Amino acid sequence: MLPVVALVGRPNVGKSTLFNRLTNTRDALVADFPGLTRDRKYGQATFDRKQFIVVDTGGITGDEEGIDAHMAQQSLLAIDEADVVLFLVDARAGLMPADQGIAEHLRKVNKKVYVVANKVDGIDGDSESADFYAMGLGTVYQIAAAHGRGISRLLDTGLNPL
Ligand code: GDP
Ligand code: MG
Repeated sequence: MLPVVALVGRPNVGKSTLFNRLTNTRDALVADFPGLTRDRKYGQATFDRKQFIVVDTGGITGDEEGIDAHMAQQSLLAIDEADVVLFLVDARAGLMPADQGIAEHLRKVNKKVYVVANKVDGIDGDSESADFYAMGLGTVYQIAAAHGRGISRLLDTGLNPL
């Protein structure tokens, strides 16, 4: 069984964009509409000759009712079955209450979790990512999923234990 890497975070932080990058597909729906990917989506990826499964999720809004509750549930299941969790946050939006809620859950699960600040293209990544250290989940990896930036550095570390 290949190792499983789950992409979790609020809607619209760039999970599907990263999924598409990692799997070299345009399969995951990417849009400006938050919450479009409502169920888990699986793809296969290879990095540095390591193969792994990537799981895209719909997102956790922190205000779960109706369809959002279903999405959040799917994300929790994805975390459960993952070996590594990439917790995406939006460097442009900054630290949001929903990020804090997800962090609280991730601090309790016994998984390798990496905080990934996406969308650092065209902004000062270091200063815009600094707030995310307050979540207490360690190093904040800066990427621009849409441009493929920072992903190798993230995977070098993130896939290391696999
Ligand atoms: P998801 O809801 O977390 O799956 O987010 P999506 O992958 O659908 O992306 C949400 C929006 O963010 C889309 O408009 C993307 O084009 C945009 N986006 C994703 N990655 C980046 C990035 O690296 N830089 C910028 N500037 N925008 C991005
Ligand atoms: Mg998505």
